[in-house]
Formats: sequence, C-alpha cells, structure tokens
Amino acid sequence: MIADNLRSINERIVRAACRVGRDPNEIRIVAAAKGQNPQAIREAVQAGITIIGHNYLQEALQVKDALANETVEHHMIGHLQRNKAGKAADIFETVQTVDNERVAAALNTRCQDNGRRMGVLIQVNLAREPQKSGLPEEQVAPLADYILKLPRLELKGLMTMPPFFDDPERARPYFAGLRELRERLERDGVLSPDMKELSMGMTGDFETAVEEGATLVRIGTAIFGERQ
Ligand SMILES: *Cc1c(COP(=O)(O)O)cnc(C)c1O
Repeated sequence: MIADNLRSINERIVRAACRVGRDPNEIRIVAAAKGQNPQAIREAVQAGITIIGHNYLQEALQVKDALANETVEHHMIGHLQRNKAGKAADIFETVQTVDNERVAAALNTRCQDNGRRMGVLIQVNLAREPQKSGLPEEQVAPLADYILKLPRLELKGLMTMPPFFDDPERARPYFAGLRELRERLERDGVLSPDMKELSMGMTGDFETAVEEGATLVRIGTAIFGERQ
C-alpha cells in the first residue's frame, strides 16, 4: 500500500512540475514519519524514500536505530528546543526548523565536538501566526548572515508551514512568498544560488507547493494513511 501511495504521489509531483515547466528531479519527498512504526517507515524507504522527517528526537532515535542498514537521511521538521540542539546535532543530517541564533550556535558547537557538519534550513513564519515557530520575513537575512559564519553549519535554504486551509489555493500566496523571499535574499547577496532548498507543501497542498517552487515536500498522511 505504501509503495502504491508513493507511486501516485510521484506521479502527482511530476504532473505539477510539468505544468509549470520545472524538472521533476528537483523535487524530493520528505516522509513525515511522526507516530509511524519503523516497519511502515522501512517500507517507504524500500519504495524509494531517501529522506525521513521527524518531529520528535525520541522517535527519530528509535527509527534511526531500526533503519541502521538503510541509506537514508533524517531531517528534523518539528520545532527544536535549544536544550535539545546538542542531541539533534548527533542524530540529524539536516534541521529544517532553525529560527534563532541560540539554536544555531548550539548545533554548531555540538558539531565541532562530534566532528560533523550539518545542513540547516531557516523556518519562516510568513503569516506571523503567534502559535507557530519560525521567523517573520524581515528577520531571515540577519539569521542567515549569522548562520553563514558558523563553520559547521551549511545553510541550504528556507522552510515554511502556512496556516491551515481546506483549499490549497489559499496556501499558494505563502508558497510564492517563500520563493520570492529566497530570490530576494539571493539578489541581495545573502544566499548563494546553491542554497536553493524550499521545504513547503504537505499532503493537502504539495502540488500547489511544487507549482510555486518547492524542492522538498513533507508528506505524511498521503504516504502512511491517517495518523491514529
Ligand atoms: C506532520 C507534518 C507534515 C506532514 O503532514 P501531512 O499532512 O500528514 O502530510 C509536514 N510537515 C510537518 C512539520 C509536520 O509536522
């Protein structure tokens, strides 16, 4: 079932990319694995998933252990508290949700200790929803400048989670907004062209996100079914 789901998601991604003249190979699926058992996640990996997205450190550790023989990246897609940043730097290839200097500094320090480098995305809160993490647009450039000075962190791009809408068209302005913000930061010399990742779009709206430039779509329900 998971393999079938992924086949259909891939087809939808290809069609969405083609509608706007994008190369579908620019887009990778992050399997959002919260609450899933390791067997289901393994099935997804065997069906071609190369990135697993986690919301919780404890779950990530268990899944990572269970999939130790698989070639797969683990990304943090949930909010990361500063006091857990050290642990996160031991577990994840990339943290997609960096939104303040102290977390970035803590990740960098731990990477200096463990001899690793890690990828980071800056999480942007375009709608300025008070209950959500992520930075307002105007604070992204200063945080990017700060991260770029940390030798162990590789800034790869931006991530966002728009407000929830039933109609994906209503999320489109936020997806477009993240792409435009990235373009502006590149024009202003803050980001270089290779820092191109845009992590946006979930089960309900990933095709719209792809049309607006997503390079990473974070998908849970459409792969694994409804969460319990
Ligand atoms: C759960 C989750 C997703 C995936 O949500 P679905 O609607 O199940 O596809 C994406 N991003 C984040 C940050 C999540 O927590």
